[in-house]
Amino acid sequence: MDIKTIIRTIPDYPKKGIMFRDITTLWQDAGGFRHVIDQLVWPYAGVRIDKVAGIEARGFVLGGAIAHQLSVGFIPVRKKGKLPAAVISEEYDLEYGTDTVEIHEDAIKKGENILLVDDLIATGGTAAAAINLIRHAGGTVVGAAFVIDLPDIGGARRIGKMGVNVRTLCEFE
Ligand code: IMP
Repeated sequence: MDIKTIIRTIPDYPKKGIMFRDITTLWQDAGGFRHVIDQLVWPYAGVRIDKVAGIEARGFVLGGAIAHQLSVGFIPVRKKGKLPAAVISEEYDLEYGTDTVEIHEDAIKKGENILLVDDLIATGGTAAAAINLIRHAGGTVVGAAFVIDLPDIGGARRIGKMGVNVRTLCEFE
């Protein structure tokens, strides 16, 4: 299945010059949705995974489905101030300014193996911050899975250099 044909591109969103890759059109397609979940999960057969961590917000949809398929728990990685209980936080740099991701401080037990999931990797800044968070909580990131890679920007290589196995399903310029 060529999933790129069912991922919509919105030019100039959220600002001029950005080609936004919109995965909601893939989710609307039952076969497409099932296909990407299956393709993201199968390489981890035989790997011990204790929990899936999904990055807000599109990583919740993919990560929830993957956690269900693996019969493991799910952890939301959220933007600052959204989680109700005590959190640990990790700040990371954006093109202009900074952003912060958080998980509940009791979300991960020391030594747990975590699979990180999001829809798309660009600079890898968000994923790197999530990996640091999981490591600070005592977890081991056994993989990072994304539907879309923007290889020209280099995020997948950056995450690879952090010692994390990266899986992506398609590439856009
Ligand atoms: P990065 O931190 O630069 O790797 O950006 C990745 C984050 O931004 C992910 O959480 C993505 O969901 C989001 N993102 C960046 N560009 C796009 C896009 O074109 N489509 C969907 N999400 C995007």
